[in-house]
Amino acid sequence: MSQYKVLTLWNEERINEEDTRTLRTPTREAPVPFDPETQQAILTMKEAFLERDDAAGLAAPQIGIGRRIIAFRSRGFDENDPARRAEDCEILVNPRITQRRGEPVVMDEGCLSCPDIRVEISRHPEIKVRGLDTEGRKVSKRYLDFAARVIQHEMDHLDGKLIVDYEGSVFIPKKREDFFAKFFQEK
Ligand SMILES: [Zn+2]
Repeated sequence: MSQYKVLTLWNEERINEEDTRTLRTPTREAPVPFDPETQQAILTMKEAFLERDDAAGLAAPQIGIGRRIIAFRSRGFDENDPARRAEDCEILVNPRITQRRGEPVVMDEGCLSCPDIRVEISRHPEIKVRGLDTEGRKVSKRYLDFAARVIQHEMDHLDGKLIVDYEGSVFIPKKREDFFAKFFQEK
């Protein structure tokens, strides 16, 4: 059982109104230098992310933190060595994409906050991101392919945007067809 609950738009039966409100609220920039609240938020994010082995990334609003912080694995998710995977956590505070390159690539994405479904989303395969590391130092890095996709996905969360907001094909499990048909119709 994990210590941190990840907020979700819906559960097995219905829409989670309260979680939805939090997930839909755009987050605030962290002040520089970091205040104690931001420092604590960074530690919490790292802990919450590392205790999961089913996620390539996590954004602060997913655990109820209203700050612009994302965590992600940048060395590849399909890594078979759990020890190495456990250390693979990169954190960016106040991330900003400063460059997008390459022909957008369509791939289906899942999200811990949108359980049971996958949505096809077109993203740039190469991005340059500026932000701050956990110590508040400025960083500017280039990310490719899978990492670039994960970062773009997590940054969407910071603006209250989720995979259900994209127009691509949606993959829905048969047993919940009615629920999602209604959800996407009313959206
Ligand atoms: Zn997500």
